Amino acid sequence: MRYELLIDGQLNPGGGSIEVIDPASGQVFEHCARALPEHLELAVAAALRAFTRWSREPLAARQILLTAIAEVIENNVQPLANLLTREQGKPLADSVWEVNGAAYIFRYYAGLDIPVQVLEDSEQRRVEQHQMPLGVVGAILPWNFPLFMAAAKIAPTLLAGNTLVLKPAPSTPLATLYLGALIKDLVPPGVLNLIADCNDLGPLLTAHPDVRKIGFTGSTQTGLKVMSAVVPTLKRLTLELGGNDAGIVLEDCDPKVVAAQLFKAAFTNNGQICVALKRLYVPASLYDALCDELAAIANRSVVGPGLEQGSELGPIQNKAQFERVLSLIESARRDGTIIAGGQSLGLPGYFVRPTIVRDIDDGTALVDQEQFGPVLPVIRYQDLDQAIASANNTPFGLGASVWSKNIDQAYAVAERLDAGTVWINNHGDVGPDIPFGGSKMSGVGAEYAWEGIAELTQLKIINIAKA
Ligand code: NAD
Repeated sequence: MRYELLIDGQLNPGGGSIEVIDPASGQVFEHCARALPEHLELAVAAALRAFTRWSREPLAARQILLTAIAEVIENNVQPLANLLTREQGKPLADSVWEVNGAAYIFRYYAGLDIPVQVLEDSEQRRVEQHQMPLGVVGAILPWNFPLFMAAAKIAPTLLAGNTLVLKPAPSTPLATLYLGALIKDLVPPGVLNLIADCNDLGPLLTAHPDVRKIGFTGSTQTGLKVMSAVVPTLKRLTLELGGNDAGIVLEDCDPKVVAAQLFKAAFTNNGQICVALKRLYVPASLYDALCDELAAIANRSVVGPGLEQGSELGPIQNKAQFERVLSLIESARRDGTIIAGGQSLGLPGYFVRPTIVRDIDDGTALVDQEQFGPVLPVIRYQDLDQAIASANNTPFGLGASVWSKNIDQAYAVAERLDAGTVWINNHGDVGPDIPFGGSKMSGVGAEYAWEGIAELTQLKIINIAKA
């Protein structure tokens, strides 16, 4: 299998190749085509040419395309999931979930209408609000959910009548390019273009004068660069960035019951989720019991290659992130007490045992920074107001959660948390039918649902005088 770019409806070998590493071995296991600046130019030019026609297609035609893409994904779950596990590291069952999730996103948007709203229809005038496509959209992705994220960009962008140039993360290009090869004959040439890079084409795409909007998902650090890059051409911009989500456990929780849910919220996908639970605040009365429960679950967890049966947590996706997580663990050794994990597996891949750190406070690296990995700091609190203040005391504002049997009490806390999404007795439940976006430095704008479509369209008012 050759993994090639998709430009103007054709597979394109690019100019050179990218080595793709299997994080379970640390070794190169596959190569794919590398896009150079000239391929990006070709892709943008193809998208621009395709826009006139695609934007005039009736909505129904665009919905039919999205349904057809969903069917292709559903018919290729196994190969796509295998590839995802090889390049991303996650256990195969999680990859199957992700592939099905990608198909679900296409089906969801295939069922979404973009209606003309009649704002007024009186004797004097009729005023209509239309949502017009923007033009060429550029999408830039991270490496934690390559296919889910690709679907979340492709489906609404195309439904809205835009054309797209999408760039996966350099370390996880394969499943996206494979999807491109599977659907290339379904999608009109130029409507969807896929380019893979060596972490070098983002600035070109964000500055390109023919691109009208950038949808970026990645770190806050890179998001800041993207925001400055779009200024000279006044592009629309949606930023889905990093987070440092806090969870607050209230006094009435049963540690045995919540521990499993909290563990899942923090360690699914090895903690490499923008809305993973990244800091846990626990009242002093439950602190020892809950720490012990979390440590017991961590110690029982099976860490191993994603393709090996029984693995519950795979490797960390790439070497740089692996080293960053290990360095945060070293800082936690000084700043707190590690009661589970705390080490790599000593295998060639990027494996780290799920790590629970107690007796750690705000103001330490592990609590204040986004770890984006399998390490959870558990912080003791005496006073709920203080816990809420700590949860909010961060430049981020992506998600947060409150855990309690008393929903009214939890709701009162949720109202005081500053985050784009606040869950009660859950953390990380997202989907294409629920708008999603961060406050503060976790993002600008929103994706998913109608709000996502609104950000991919331009308002146009038609105002007809009658009298
Ligand atoms: P990253 O910012 O390093 O890279 C993301 C993408 O940006 C990659 O495709 C990369 O090639 C590209 N890029 C790099 N430099 C660029 C530049 N100057 N201009 C344009 N593009 C550039 O992020 P990552 O390490 O791949 O992902 C992890 C981060 O993403 C975490 O902080 C996580 O919280 C965040 N994330 C956020 C969401 C969300 O929806 N809010 C979802 C997933 C991940």
